[in-house]
Amino acid sequence: MSLSQLARSISESPTLKLNETAALLRDKGEPVIHLGGGEPKSKAPIDAIVSCASLLSTGDVKYTPADGIPALKKAIIRYTEEHYGRLAAPENVIASSGAKQSIMVLLHAILDPKEEVIFPVPYWVSYPEMVKLAGGVPVPVAALDGGFEPTVDEIAQAVGPYTKAIIVNSPNNPSGAVYSDEFIAGVVELCEKRNLYLVMDDTYNRLIFDGRKPTNCYRFSKAPSLDSSKLVVINCVSKMYAMTGFRIGWAIGNKELVRAMTNIQSQETSGPAAPSQWAAVGALNGVQSSIESLRLTLENNRNVMMTRLGAFSGVKVVKPGGTFYCFPDFSAYEKDSQKLCRLLLDKVRVVTVPGREFGMEGHLRLSYCGTVKDVTEGIERIKWALDPDAPNELYLGDRKLVRDWR
Ligand code: PMP
Repeated sequence: MSLSQLARSISESPTLKLNETAALLRDKGEPVIHLGGGEPKSKAPIDAIVSCASLLSTGDVKYTPADGIPALKKAIIRYTEEHYGRLAAPENVIASSGAKQSIMVLLHAILDPKEEVIFPVPYWVSYPEMVKLAGGVPVPVAALDGGFEPTVDEIAQAVGPYTKAIIVNSPNNPSGAVYSDEFIAGVVELCEKRNLYLVMDDTYNRLIFDGRKPTNCYRFSKAPSLDSSKLVVINCVSKMYAMTGFRIGWAIGNKELVRAMTNIQSQETSGPAAPSQWAAVGALNGVQSSIESLRLTLENNRNVMMTRLGAFSGVKVVKPGGTFYCFPDFSAYEKDSQKLCRLLLDKVRVVTVPGREFGMEGHLRLSYCGTVKDVTEGIERIKWALDPDAPNELYLGDRKLVRDWR
């Protein structure tokens, strides 16, 4: 088969693949517990549904401007003012089919071949592949202390003549770490000094725990306006409103950049689907209580997961400050995270995501976006599979499992 070099260099999204595997096993009646998921279980807000449905009921569903309908841009501008204290013009905003597309067109708009994009380890699985798709070179930076937040110095040491951008995702997928204000301030300063783009992926910044407030990166910027800045903020309705399937995200950046991103998007896909844009307008302008109730549910699930993992000797876990993921270190049991993930799926039907995909071996990403029952049962099964002192038998429903692998 004659596929391009690029196609051959890009790997499948491991998280989407795991969703497929879990769905196939469930269809066969297997008692799968999905701790690999990347989306809240709650429904989309009613305001989103009403707004979407009212467009659909007209039957008049047409192309939209490539950068989004004016009503959505207006809602995004209001959101930006309220949550970031920044006044954006419509020309500073582009709405895309998910945050993923905003990041993708951004990378296409800024990268020349072989230019480098830095991001901290662990990182969202898609960053390296997206950078490669745009012809660039991914440069992951791991913290020397083995933790989830490298120092600004460690990031600065990775900056070289080919560096074009730094991507920071806080709260972080997969670790749930909320980076310190000092780190964000340091990276903003570094990018301004070295004339680099800084992409703040704020996908999870409303899903933050323990009374902390989301960090507003603009606070640390010396640029007098959006148009004199290379800071780009990415957001989406996907996680905070549990609207992953609508596929609406956006970027806020300087006008020149947004114009270039819009040109690329107009040739690649045109504007995002009109019903989805109206759904996002409904969510952003509607009653906001669903975000807080999701946040509280996730915080509670996080606490349950921490308690359960705390009773697991040998597993090292750092309490996540946000998202719906945690990233425990299982290397005392198995250093190869893919092998461990496969074992847990094969033997006890628990879906997890191998740490290797996020740049950190020995870890597994566990989600707590499901029910408390999923979390408790999932961890109980993992413990049974790994703990040599656990009883030799376990029941999955009425199926008796006998451990024959340890
Ligand atoms: N950034 C991060 C860190 C994510 O985890 C995700 C989704 N998993 C995205 C961006 C993409 O979001 P969307 O579904 O809106 O494309």
